[in-house]
Amino acid sequence: MTIAQKLSFDVQLSDHARTAAEREQVLTNPGFGQTFTDHMVVIDYTDGRGWHDARLVPYGPLSLDPATSVLHYAQELFEGLKAYRQVNGSIVAFRPYANAARLNRSAARMAMPELPEETFVESLELLVQTDREWVPTTEGHSLYLRPFLIATQVGLGVNYPSRTYSYIVIASPAASYFSGGVKPVSVWLSTEYTRAAPGGTGFAKCGGNYAAAFVAQRQAVENGCDQVVWLDAQAHEYVEEMGGMNLFFVFGDELVTPALTGTLLPGITRESILTLAADLGLEAEERLVSVEEWQAGCESGELTEVFACGTAAVVTPVGSVKGAGRAWTIGDGTPGPVTMRVREELVGIQYGSRPDPHGWVHKIC
Ligand SMILES: *Cc1c(COP(=O)(O)O)cnc(C)c1O
Repeated sequence: MTIAQKLSFDVQLSDHARTAAEREQVLTNPGFGQTFTDHMVVIDYTDGRGWHDARLVPYGPLSLDPATSVLHYAQELFEGLKAYRQVNGSIVAFRPYANAARLNRSAARMAMPELPEETFVESLELLVQTDREWVPTTEGHSLYLRPFLIATQVGLGVNYPSRTYSYIVIASPAASYFSGGVKPVSVWLSTEYTRAAPGGTGFAKCGGNYAAAFVAQRQAVENGCDQVVWLDAQAHEYVEEMGGMNLFFVFGDELVTPALTGTLLPGITRESILTLAADLGLEAEERLVSVEEWQAGCESGELTEVFACGTAAVVTPVGSVKGAGRAWTIGDGTPGPVTMRVREELVGIQYGSRPDPHGWVHKIC
């Protein structure tokens, strides 16, 4: 247990912040995760002392001893959420306390210290307020926030978790994922590789899960697909998720998403869509979905749409599926009406053009 102590942030503003003209140049075409704002937040942790030295400092390289534990044993986790400029001009985050809670569930699995939820949200507020000019005004654009936690103890001993950590938040302006309109993705069913096994780290948002996934994503591309779809570790029979996004299957007016078995990442977008379903007059169910059911449902026409969801791309239609010796199309391969309706509703809440009945929007400034 860390004793809850209110941290105060030391603020050191950058003396080489980019000019308004330089910033505007970036904001015209921000891409994703390429350019970062002028500042970052850092908070250190030491066993026995807790969190300390909270600070906002100029964005810049970290200096780490080559024997720093995270570089060898990947004791690392991260979060991802966005700050949106709403239609009324205020800047908001979407459900930041849900990210705080997930960070702490990941931390428990990775034997890392938990961060008080208030401190997490304050760290985002401080960075976004300081770098508010970096929050794009273009419709569909946002400021992507990337909090992460790394083990900083120096030494190669493997028997104990690190005794020291740094929590860091960086921010990057992001374009709309779909610049030329929403386009369905094609997916590759990975039967050779597994993302996560029972008892492993599948539900934790840790970098190691991604390191182990690149080879399968590359295989998806080699097979002419945009994204990899992960199946369960034992039988490669049940659908888990797509790359870094969760999946939804649309059966008429019912949404079905794979149940959280411990091997899936519990997406906040996923959970929000389960809640929104009722508002949109849709049924929603969490259960196992097999590859067989997916293919048979598309062939019979009962399964009308499939979409993926996550913070980065919000809602992305899936148009076609390929696997070892099989391939099929979902519907007519174009974005379906339920997918687009769910997408519009969620984006509308985030940008403030629709009411926020669940209180998800957190005003920053
Ligand atoms: C972050 C992530 C998601 C989506 O989570 P959101 O909270 O909706 O952004 C899904 N799958 C994986 C593997 C992820 O890392």
